[in-house]
Amino acid sequence: MTGKRANRGQSARPPGDVAPAQSTDLAGAPLSAGPAWDYAPAPESRDIVSIAAEYGLFTGGEFGPAADGRQFPTINPATEEPLALVAVAGPADVDRAVAAARHAYEDVWGPMPGAERAKYLYRIARILQERAREFAVLESLDNGKPIRESRDVDVPLAAAHFFYYAGWADKLEYAGIGGASGVGVTGGNGGAGRTGVAGGAGRGMAPRPLGVAGQVIPWNFPLLMAAWKLAPALATGNTCVLKPAETTPLTALLLAEVCQQAGLPPGVVNVLTGAGRTGSALVNHPGVDKIAFTGSTEVGKEISRAVAGTGKRLTLELGGKAANVVFDDAPVDQAVEGIVNGIFFNQGHVCCAGSRLLVQESVADTVVERLRDRLATLRLGDPLDKNTDIGAINSREQLDKINALAAAGQAEGAQRWSPPCQLPERGYWFPPTVFTGVSQSYRIAREEIFGPVLSVLTFRTPEEAVAKANNTPYGLSAGVWTEKGSRILWMAQRLRAGVVWANTYNRFDPASPFGGYRESGFGREGGRHGLAAYLAARPAGQQTAQPETAPAGAAPPDQSPLGAAQPARLGVRKTYKLFIGGSFPRSESGRSYPVTGADGALLAHAARASRKDARDAVAAARAAAGKWSGATAYNRGQVLYRVAELLEGRAAQFACDSVNAEGLSAAAAQQQVAAAIDRWVWYAGWPDKIAQVAGAANPVAGPYFNFSVPEPTGVVAVVAPARPSLLGLVSVLAPVIAAGNTAVVVASEAHPLPSITLAEVLATSDVPGGVVNVLTGFAAELAPVLAGHMDVNAIDLTGVAAGGRGELERLAAGNVKRVFAADEDWAAPPGPRRMLAFTETKTVWHPVGI
Ligand code: NAD
Repeated sequence: MTGKRANRGQSARPPGDVAPAQSTDLAGAPLSAGPAWDYAPAPESRDIVSIAAEYGLFTGGEFGPAADGRQFPTINPATEEPLALVAVAGPADVDRAVAAARHAYEDVWGPMPGAERAKYLYRIARILQERAREFAVLESLDNGKPIRESRDVDVPLAAAHFFYYAGWADKLEYAGIGGASGVGVTGGNGGAGRTGVAGGAGRGMAPRPLGVAGQVIPWNFPLLMAAWKLAPALATGNTCVLKPAETTPLTALLLAEVCQQAGLPPGVVNVLTGAGRTGSALVNHPGVDKIAFTGSTEVGKEISRAVAGTGKRLTLELGGKAANVVFDDAPVDQAVEGIVNGIFFNQGHVCCAGSRLLVQESVADTVVERLRDRLATLRLGDPLDKNTDIGAINSREQLDKINALAAAGQAEGAQRWSPPCQLPERGYWFPPTVFTGVSQSYRIAREEIFGPVLSVLTFRTPEEAVAKANNTPYGLSAGVWTEKGSRILWMAQRLRAGVVWANTYNRFDPASPFGGYRESGFGREGGRHGLAAYLAARPAGQQTAQPETAPAGAAPPDQSPLGAAQPARLGVRKTYKLFIGGSFPRSESGRSYPVTGADGALLAHAARASRKDARDAVAAARAAAGKWSGATAYNRGQVLYRVAELLEGRAAQFACDSVNAEGLSAAAAQQQVAAAIDRWVWYAGWPDKIAQVAGAANPVAGPYFNFSVPEPTGVVAVVAPARPSLLGLVSVLAPVIAAGNTAVVVASEAHPLPSITLAEVLATSDVPGGVVNVLTGFAAELAPVLAGHMDVNAIDLTGVAAGGRGELERLAAGNVKRVFAADEDWAAPPGPRRMLAFTETKTVWHPVGI
């Protein structure tokens, strides 16, 4: 660790004024000074996320205060700054949430066909991806983990869990819990008892949901743990009351907002914030059918006792003290990376952390030396800095616990070492720490520290390694490092752990079951096995837990072509992305904004393009410019005409977009669509005629032949008019590209949907990627970027109100952009002026002689 970045972003103390780390030399060896060079700060913007001053509980689809109005602060552990006040759920709130979940289970979610449930989960997954940056920043602020981890691990994995389980929702009969496959899932404590694994139901039995699930999660992966809990529970038809940890409630509350955004029926997911008492009230509530708990073994045991005799199903994911076993033939550099990842990922706040390094005696010195060298390169500091490897400890309480156990390790005789490291004065910090000379009886070898502290032990034979690895009441995970395949399998057979990583560590995947042996808990999360925790077998023929009736308030069943009544189906909701360079990226900002129809109803969330997206679009337009303008005029005309054909095929959707957006009658919308397609056709006929209309043979004096030809201006930014949403867009875009330019379109802010549908048409056409790029978002943010961009050659400000054009024109002056704006009667026949506005005239002289 260089330490230079240690207090970056911490404003509480002046630069250079840092607290000394509690570093102790390891066996007298010199400490590494770290590399001579360093990275510049790369802080992620905190502004991506807006944190409210107060948060309520999420019950029955609504946010509201606790019945008794109690609140607690959640703080940023890196700065100790309060982030927000959060409601404390009491018994009355738990009653309300459980009742909401019960109603939702009985009325809507339980009876809903799996295929319909799946679509809600897909929606949630998509929205998580779209708002990924927001989630990542919020997670790092509330938890203290490095943004690199929240961005690259927590949030993508959370979305992946929803995707994975969405796909299971309509295939449960093949999941091995009973039904078509007849293959029972065994595991955990086996059987269909309260440990939650409905094993071996076999043929003649079909899976059914359990009802209301009470889910209590810890603070180390707040969003990811919520996803681990919610996704399989929802996919299997259960409803949920989730209790996030008291120090990290914010991303669970944002996830509740995502559930609203996805249109999830009220009560299907409820989020109750609060501490252990809230968790306990939920666990003990008689209306809950299933408890899923992730947390400490101590609390897990308490919950197990509380649930005993109630008939509630239970799964427990508890603590661990994993061994990471390195043999003498292991590739040392890879193993060192695995050791570092195993214990310093997420500051060691990982239940499956490889906190005990078991290294074969003959290579112990080499491995420890390389490990120290590697640790000297880790950076500790501002969690929002993209270069940070080690963030803050989540709470004062956890820091005290780590300090106490580290002190015990020293007192018991182990040698303690940390790299040179500066810790910020404010916030909760602990340097990466390695203990050597550790004996199995020491507390640091037995107790879960849940911090960046590694205990190194040695072994001589594989048998000794197994014995030491298994010498713990836990059994969550283990690592093995060796080149020898047969030894890996030999070890894997003998290690008493739910997950064994061979020549890797801390790998997670929604398709991979995860969970412990022994005091690390029972039940599995992830994979097909993760479904079992939320299902019971029911006699075949009984299709759902509830009679197969339509949910209350649902639309009447449609008549299928075969005449049988079908349950009302939920549409697959479209994701509204940007269109840049021929593909559909999400906004780099991770933001979106609501698009409402003329009646005020929410139609979609459109991507809110950032300045960076605008610059990317310009780069894409520039890259495509040569190819488009270099194609023959005839070819460009053909390609554009083909677009008109495709538009015709989408006429109904365009009409629907316009009806919704502009509140038009169906007839008026169809008329607009027809006019827009006709206008496109009109411009498609122009590319091979512009030169004939705009070009000239010029009668100059002297023996010269002189001619002028129009050429495309280059990259043209276009701010589309708000209405008519499709006809206006086509009227400003088609002339630009017909004249051979490439375009960056700022879609109508109020009515962006036709632009997105048009982008989809273009993506399936022969128009090369990058010729048209579509940015949705706020024109007030995007237009100035484009007007000031030095690689944009011209800008059409027709879509900007006259009063707002002056400043943009001033910006456009920076590279002498062509600026065009004309308020038009869009119904009137167009002329060539919009094409000519975006062409340059090139005049060529050539002497005439013999
Ligand atoms: P914790 O047990 O103190 O708290 C976990 C959750 O339980 C929190 O939401 C807390 O408010 C709640 N809680 C506390 N007392 C309760 C009670 N009596 N009844 C009901 N709920 C109660 O654990 P923690 O400190 O938040 O998390 C760290 C622990 O979690 C570590 O031991 C770690 O190994 C474990 N963990 C395990 C896994 C796994 O998958 N096995 C994953 C992550 C964390």
